[in-house]
Order: sequence, then structure tokens, then C-alpha cells
Amino acid sequence: MIQTTLNDAYLTSHYNLPFYRIKTFDGYPYLKQVIFTRLGGISQTPFHSLNMSEAVGDTPATVEHNFELACQSLQITPSQTVSCHLIHKSDILTIDNTNQQRMMGYADGLVTNEPNVYLAMRFADCTPLIFFDPTQKIIGLSHAGWRGTMQNIATETVRAMRQLGAKIKNIIAVIGPSIGPCCYEVGTEVLDAAGQTFQRPDALFDYRHGKNQRPYFDMWQANQQLLIETGVRTIIHTNLCTACNTDKFFSHRAENGRTGRFGVIIGLKE
Ligand SMILES: [Zn+2]
Repeated sequence: MIQTTLNDAYLTSHYNLPFYRIKTFDGYPYLKQVIFTRLGGISQTPFHSLNMSEAVGDTPATVEHNFELACQSLQITPSQTVSCHLIHKSDILTIDNTNQQRMMGYADGLVTNEPNVYLAMRFADCTPLIFFDPTQKIIGLSHAGWRGTMQNIATETVRAMRQLGAKIKNIIAVIGPSIGPCCYEVGTEVLDAAGQTFQRPDALFDYRHGKNQRPYFDMWQANQQLLIETGVRTIIHTNLCTACNTDKFFSHRAENGRTGRFGVIIGLKE
């Protein structure tokens, strides 16, 4: 049986830093999990204010300070975090205590079963996919824009977790804050790619409210379909559209490319 949960994220704060948490994950106290917003940092316009990316034109020292604030709210240090340069592909890196470093290279997914390794990524419309196998204590985090979605990074992340011993029936997957079907107008390149990836791509596109006869793509549903096809039974939706909520999130589309990136951090406490 497939179980999907809607609207499972709630806003809270720690050390004056607001962030979302997944309610279902609160049942696992050893799992640290935070979806930051754009609020509570020190970056100036257009990166105001908790921008986590140095790749968007913000001052590196400011970004590092924001990251330290984020780590402080989780009571971890930046050296406990692991991240990668995101390249819109579907390569997954497995982290253990022999290869752990803050920047792991180029990839769009990270998995680990190592306690005290905190997976960190940055987003502004692309979909954060968060994975957790509570039985084997294995976590994953990946970055699925339309390209990553079409390359089935959802399945690739699950595969990397299974190599660490995860059982697919136990995996909980979260489809995090990202551009929703309400706002994601796309072009023919997305339609063409969907034709390659999906058996019934039409169900993922909506032509009704397109002003320019261009379809709206449902990236949330697309990733849900891929997760179900690969065997994941428990899927949680945050139902938070970044483009509809630029007061809380950065949105590359809604802010015409001049914006920051919000962070997602997940890790297993010792
Ligand atoms: Zn929207």
C-alpha cells in the first residue's frame, strides 16, 4: 500500500532562526532535519537574507556567516556538514568517515549511514528530495530540478541507499519546497524529456492556465510517480511552492534569477 501525506511541514525556530521541519520525522529524535527559509540571515538584497550559496554573487564571508547561523541552530559545526556542487545530473555520492569533507565534488545526491555526518544542499525552485530509512538508519538528500527529475535522481538516490543496506519498503521520501504546478510554466525541452522518462507524461502537464499556450509542469507529481515506480511506499509532500512564497523562500523563477538559495540539512545524531 502506498501512503502519501500532504502538508507535513511546519514552521518553527531555534536560536531565532526560522525553519521548517517534517512532522513525521519528529518521531525519530536521533534524526536532525531542517528546511531553512530565506529568513534570519545577514545577506543584502537580492540575497536577503539567509542565502546559503556562494555561486549566486553574494559575498562569500556573508554566506559563510549564514551557514554558521544555520549550523548553530542545529547545534552542529560546519565541519560536520557535507555538500557538493550541484550540476543538474543524477550522480549520487556515498559519504563515510573516510571520505567526508565539506565539499565532496560534483553531484546532485548524497547518502550516508554515518552518524554525525550532516548532508547539506541549497535550493531555489528545484525540488529537495529527502530520504530516510528509520530501520537501517540511512539518509539521503538530493536535488531534482526538471533535469534531475527526468534523469530519475529519485531512483538513483534510493539505489545508493540500498547499497548501504536500506530496505525499500522502509524508506520515507519527502518532496520538499520547490516550484509547484501552480507556477512552473515550461517549454518544449521539458515536454520532450518527459516523453523519454514517463509512460504517461500528459498527466504531468496542465495547459489550462498557460497564457502563452505553454504547459505547467507538476514536478511534485513527477517525482512521486518515479518514487512509486521504484518501490517507495511512503511519500510526504510539503506542498510549499517557492514561487508562491517568496516571502519565505528564494525562487529563481519568481525573482528572475537574481536571488539566493535556502538550505536543507539532514543528519543522524550519534
Ligand atoms: Zn506556485
